[in-house]
Amino acid sequence: MSESPVRPFAPDGDGYRWATVERKRYKEEGPARFRDITRQTLFRRPDMLGELRYFEVAPGGHSTLERHVHVHAVMVLRGSGAVLVGEGVFPVKPYDLVTVPPSTWHQFRASADAALGFLCMVDAGRDVPQVPDAGEIGRLRAIPAVASFLDTACD
Ligand code: MN
Repeated sequence: MSESPVRPFAPDGDGYRWATVERKRYKEEGPARFRDITRQTLFRRPDMLGELRYFEVAPGGHSTLERHVHVHAVMVLRGSGAVLVGEGVFPVKPYDLVTVPPSTWHQFRASADAALGFLCMVDAGRDVPQVPDAGEIGRLRAIPAVASFLDTACD
């Protein structure tokens, strides 16, 4: 019997969910720094060039600060927070669209009082993210708005 083409939206007390979609701790296998974030891969097929994932960052949490050649196309679905893209910091709210260009530092942070959930479209075949070394961190921190954004970290 084939799988149903519809997987219903089925949020639970722990966040947005879709029936039969596995929810994973983000990059729990890797060394990159992140806090309180989960990933659900909504669409990934061998006959598609892209993937659509849903990430949810718990209140006060954040994604990895990273860059890579592949781009991200993001739509915020719930909560609020801020994003770092390149040398800019921007507040985000539901339905805002965020484009992360190639080789651009980026990080998503949830507000202290609300989870931040967003869809993220990426190439199926993509390069491995890089994390900043001490020199890159110093260069980013020289930008006051970026230093302030990074200092909301809890780790
Ligand atoms: Mn990324």
